[in-house]
Amino acid sequence: MPKSPAVRLRPDIESLPAYVPGERPVGTQVFKLSSNEIPFSPLPAVLAALADAAADVNRYPDMHATALVEALGAWHGVGAERVTVGNGSVAVLAHILSAVCQPGDEVVLPWRSFEAYPIATQVAGAMAVTVPLDAAGRHDLTAMAAAVTPRTRAVLLCSPNNPTGPALTQTEVADFLAAVPANVLVVLDEAYIEFVRQPDATDGPALLAAHKNLVVLRTFSKAYGLAGLRVGYALARRRLTAGFRATATPFGVSSLAMAAALAALPEQQAVRARVVQVVAERDRVVGRLRAQGWQVPDPQGNFVWLALGRRSTTFAQAARHRGVLVRAFGGEGVRVSVGEPEGNDLFLEVAQGWIERVGS
Ligand SMILES: *Cc1c(COP(=O)(O)O)cnc(C)c1O
Repeated sequence: MPKSPAVRLRPDIESLPAYVPGERPVGTQVFKLSSNEIPFSPLPAVLAALADAAADVNRYPDMHATALVEALGAWHGVGAERVTVGNGSVAVLAHILSAVCQPGDEVVLPWRSFEAYPIATQVAGAMAVTVPLDAAGRHDLTAMAAAVTPRTRAVLLCSPNNPTGPALTQTEVADFLAAVPANVLVVLDEAYIEFVRQPDATDGPALLAAHKNLVVLRTFSKAYGLAGLRVGYALARRRLTAGFRATATPFGVSSLAMAAALAALPEQQAVRARVVQVVAERDRVVGRLRAQGWQVPDPQGNFVWLALGRRSTTFAQAARHRGVLVRAFGGEGVRVSVGEPEGNDLFLEVAQGWIERVGS
């Protein structure tokens, strides 16, 4: 019998690398330091709001997530018409790129950075133009500005950069915005902004007034501890926001996610108190690592980076044997989230043993 023809996938989709999630623990007493989650259980106010909202899940959520975009607009001092919410900021980024890109367009992005960037770019039909980080794991903003061509529709900035850790300064972002053409969208992803402690920290929302081509990405997945519920958002000018919203699937934020985000937002004090604990642990971990002899790029998020190169996978396996899941980026390095102190201590023991046996 002749073989029947198969459905054709877009060749650029068929060749896409799959997004690799952080490894999940099997069994007990495993510390998951592989996905940059915070190690605390949800805030009591969030759990209460979820229990309440559960009673209404037979109903569709508000299609426009009105209460949430209004609360976020008020929180950032901008109108609700400047807020796009979505199923995690990864989904919001996908909407943004599909709103601005056509086949043949280019998106400039730093590399190594968040692995969702090249995937979202290609799914939007555009081509990723990757600009290598400098030796300190920072964006090379001069090279990124130079990589902009007439075909560039967007530039992605990740601050702090996942997975290496360093953050941009507000001055650097403002200078970069002044250097790129005003018709190129600049996406500033501030997923870890709450953990930044360096001077002149970025403040994306403060730059919106002066820059029509800026969009700021934020998320409830990290400091707010709602990774499992999937809520992220973008702040941008009204015209752009309307475009981003137009490309989104309807009802993109579930009623449970919306209730949880609305309950978490007023809990600033509790959120900040948790962030303070994570930052203290981060500083302890990086101090110990450097004392052991490791060179660690300045960690401004809730994770640290060991540039282990080809030995990354072996290191991750060694950590796994000790009950710590870390994230290896083959050939480049290992990213380790800051978790509960016991997990961090176990990781520090693995790092100490490794440097004694193998070196950094
Ligand atoms: C974790 C992370 C996000 C958040 O993604 P969500 O889809 O909101 O969970 C966004 N950007 C970067 C760089 C991240 O590391």
